Amino acid sequence: MDARDALRRYLEQRKELGERELMLDDLSVDDALKLVMGAAASRAPATLSSRGGAATEGPARPAEISAGPVGPSGAMRPRDDNSSAVADVAPLPPLESLDAIAQYVATCTRCPLYSTATNPVPGEGNPNADFMCVGEAPGATEDETGRPFVGAAGQLLTKILEAIDLKREDVFICNVLKHRPPGNRNPRPEEVVACSPFLVRQIELVKPKVILALGTFAAQTLLNSQVPLGKLRGQVHQYCGVPLVVTYHPAALLRNPSWKRPTWEDVQLARRILDSAVPGT
Ligand code: URA
Repeated sequence: MDARDALRRYLEQRKELGERELMLDDLSVDDALKLVMGAAASRAPATLSSRGGAATEGPARPAEISAGPVGPSGAMRPRDDNSSAVADVAPLPPLESLDAIAQYVATCTRCPLYSTATNPVPGEGNPNADFMCVGEAPGATEDETGRPFVGAAGQLLTKILEAIDLKREDVFICNVLKHRPPGNRNPRPEEVVACSPFLVRQIELVKPKVILALGTFAAQTLLNSQVPLGKLRGQVHQYCGVPLVVTYHPAALLRNPSWKRPTWEDVQLARRILDSAVPGT
């Protein structure tokens, strides 16, 4: 690995950890990556997608990366303002079951992603799961199959769950976005505005005892936070009264095996919360 590769790798890791600014003239991580990659990068940037694939589109602007809060009303709110809903999309009709959500998502046109996706990926698993995993958005394999987390990152997630004695079919697995962004680019705020009510409703219906947020995007969206992932992990947060643990996205783990140990600690924390939850509450 030459020095440029090493620096690029370092910058990608900082970005995966949720850092957007460097202490160099307020340079964003994306801008620094572009500089490191040179002219070729600015023409066809090797965008780091938090879901592992090399994106075909340019990097999201820093303001786009963290899309904003998801409230229990299902609407997006402006950051740092918990009082008013600003969603510019129609409210959802009452969706009384996970199947009803999946059916609605199947014909959803609330954002343009349906037009480039092959299949909707609403989520799957035990409708009464005590443990819920939330990722960012479907990738290529998920888009082909209509199922969440079934590609390489998904296989790793299955193993992580098994390591804490959970079978995939016992948990509920879904994403913030239900359609794949083209080329695995980062979700855009308006897409999260349009799609987040489905996630909110899924959490309301499943009523998990623990939520495991996988990666920066899911964590920052659910927690209404711009704090980097490295600082969000290792503690128990609350999402509308449900304990929420943050860990690395499995796709990031595939690239950075040194994050396996902290991930193991995070999921053990989530497991302990599950074990201490009072049954039937
Ligand atoms: N990455 C995600 O965030 N979700 C998936 O379903 C697959 C990969």
